[in-house]
Amino acid sequence: MHDDLKSRDKKVNWHPYTQMKTASDIIPIVRGQGVYLFDDKGNRYIDAVSSWWVTLHGHAHPYIAQKVSEQLHTLEQVIFAGFTHEPAIRLSENLLQLLPDNQSKVFYTDNGSTAIEVALKMCIQCAHNKGMKKTKILAFNNAYHGDTFGAMSVSSRGIWTQPFGEMLFEVIFIDVPTKDNLPLLKNIIDQHLDQLAGFVYEPLVQGAAGMLMHDPDDLSALMKYCRSKNLLMIQDEIFVGFGRTGKLFATDHLTEKPDIICFSKGLTGGTFPLGLTTCTDLIFDAFCSDDAHKTLFHGHSFTANPLACTAALASLELLLKKETQEDIQRICREHEKFAKEMAVHPAVKNVRQCGTILALELQITQKTSYFNKQHKNLYPYFLSQGILLRPLGNIIYLVPPYCISTADLKYIYQTITKALTMPPKQYCKTNLSS
Ligand SMILES: *Cc1c(COP(=O)(O)O)cnc(C)c1O
Repeated sequence: MHDDLKSRDKKVNWHPYTQMKTASDIIPIVRGQGVYLFDDKGNRYIDAVSSWWVTLHGHAHPYIAQKVSEQLHTLEQVIFAGFTHEPAIRLSENLLQLLPDNQSKVFYTDNGSTAIEVALKMCIQCAHNKGMKKTKILAFNNAYHGDTFGAMSVSSRGIWTQPFGEMLFEVIFIDVPTKDNLPLLKNIIDQHLDQLAGFVYEPLVQGAAGMLMHDPDDLSALMKYCRSKNLLMIQDEIFVGFGRTGKLFATDHLTEKPDIICFSKGLTGGTFPLGLTTCTDLIFDAFCSDDAHKTLFHGHSFTANPLACTAALASLELLLKKETQEDIQRICREHEKFAKEMAVHPAVKNVRQCGTILALELQITQKTSYFNKQHKNLYPYFLSQGILLRPLGNIIYLVPPYCISTADLKYIYQTITKALTMPPKQYCKTNLSS
């Protein structure tokens, strides 16, 4: 008899962001359909986190599957140096049309971290190619931009980056802008300006930090100052792009235009790994030269993979449909209603919403709730109720695929509400396999 998937997995696989020694039970998923995932025992889960924020239109979407299948029978992969193909050309054309008009070129990679690496290299080498040495980057406190070394460097330093501390390059960290701190932030920028190659930021929502949010007008004001000082701006839309904020892109909330924009995650509707970095002519032109040294020497084996580009084209087509746009607005409205209820709940310290992204920060002070250290048990509890929610510490957040029904949304809200009023002992004992 074959071992089951769980024990076979345990023998051979090392999972991301997982302490393998104390890891809770892993769940083998055998099928996905729309907003649902099905495990090997036939249990169904509502994917309320879009499988780490990537799935836009639901799992195994038939239209994307059909388009990718056709492409798979036509051209599955080709080297992207010296060669090109229709899916990459069309994807760049279609995407650039939707972005601020200063964006003119697309550089492909295959995930979010590498899209950030490319953006950082663009800024640093842009200065280098112009005969300047600029080696520092400006970033926000609590930032998360990925797990490769450059992306780690510009991310908040903590438990994740601690073993690599001294190997990470120098970054000037500032707070996210508010009405009050702008003069202070301008001061810090001025102090380091001649060494700053660029400013990288997650616009509106700092996802991995716990869905921290800042005001678009304050960010616009900061961007305006960077523009006036010719400081290159890298906008990381890897999480917030493609409708998450209620608008197509975070940039649609802002009055200022970045120099570089990074995308991944929802880019392919969550079906294939693909990343891309767009930039202005100003940056591109700094690399165009008869001097070979000025080339951007960067590329990945699967740069602009035709299958991934095809999936991205199909996903973008679905996203722009009237029905999908209405779904996004419907989720925003439902979230808003629930947020209002939760704002006065005694177990909730703070409620944050940006479009389809909703976060509930739970009280952790002893007096006001049971949740001190107990929030760990929320994850298995939600699973036992057929919902995939992965709280970040004491923050429960929802990032659902846009095809989620209002009934499923309401079921999630009800389950959260129930969990917040339940003594933790009760849900600690929930048996997952039951
Ligand atoms: C997930 C994420 C990244 C990294 O993308 P990966 O594809 O996981 O490497 C970068 N920036 C932000 C804002 C993200 O949410």
